[in-house]
Amino acid sequence: MNAVVLTADNLHRHYAVRRGLFAAPATVRALAGVSFSVAAGRTLAVVGESGCGKSTLARLLTMVELPTDGRLLIDGQDVVGADATHRKALRRAVQIVFQNPYGSLNPRQTVGAALMEPLLVNGEGDATSREAAAREMLRQVGLRDEHFGRYPHMFSGGQRQRIAIARALMLKPRVLVLDEPVSALDVSIRAQVLNLLVELQQRLGVAYVFISHDLGVVRHVADEVVVMYLGRVVEQGPSAQVFANPQHPYTQALLSATPTVDAAARRQRIILQGELPSPINPPGGCAFHTRCPEATARCRAEMPALLPLADDAGRSVACLLRATR
Ligand code: SF4
Repeated sequence: MNAVVLTADNLHRHYAVRRGLFAAPATVRALAGVSFSVAAGRTLAVVGESGCGKSTLARLLTMVELPTDGRLLIDGQDVVGADATHRKALRRAVQIVFQNPYGSLNPRQTVGAALMEPLLVNGEGDATSREAAAREMLRQVGLRDEHFGRYPHMFSGGQRQRIAIARALMLKPRVLVLDEPVSALDVSIRAQVLNLLVELQQRLGVAYVFISHDLGVVRHVADEVVVMYLGRVVEQGPSAQVFANPQHPYTQALLSATPTVDAAARRQRIILQGELPSPINPPGGCAFHTRCPEATARCRAEMPALLPLADDAGRSVACLLRATR
């Protein structure tokens, strides 16, 4: 069993938003009690529609923002309670790869300079060792030595994402947050980048938090899945169990919308009615009741807790109609 490197413990993140000159500010509960842990060499996928809290979670995990409440531990060390020097050291341990590789690379900087920059900023090594490390990382992500002196615009989208991954790995992070890392890529090269991520993880033992709106993308890379809706976790568990037998109606709907060659599965597609409600004024009771095909009167009055599912080790579901223990 690998050691846990990242623990999110009941994370909350609230934002005050003004609604007018004289109106009292409203509170957006972007994250409301999210907990999980990730071990070295493992992948946790966080899935949900736009607005479910995934981006807020990415900002907390990378320490761009601190949680309003709850704890975030990196290798057992508390991020919230750390002083500025300690937090800077912890920040190195968590790096991020964004959806758009072109946007995250400086067009005026050669690939070599982009890879050496994190080492330079953190005062690591000398010019010779930094160049050697950057050239080695280029090889690790499947690029060649001659790419070192080229600029981002000279590469394809898939190659640029390889460069972004290489840059994120230069500081040897313990955790890599992958924020929709293949969503902007052609379908034909998504599999290549996903395979590269799997190979790198096996080689380096880095933990991944893979954020995606698309359950189909994370299906083949995730060990654990967290499904979020309006800032809360609605289903969580081992990937194989969640994909084989999704329990929460929202997970069932998301999964039914993923492309499949199975004609029977296509016929069972669940179309969710309505839009994601505003997080400023979420529905009472179960927040999903306005779109849930199984909602009852009880669902409008009672908020379900995330509870372990009976007879399904490791799985938790937040639904009043599912048997929990
Ligand atoms: Fe649907 Fe009710 Fe379960 Fe919420 S609690 S997911 S509304 S059945």
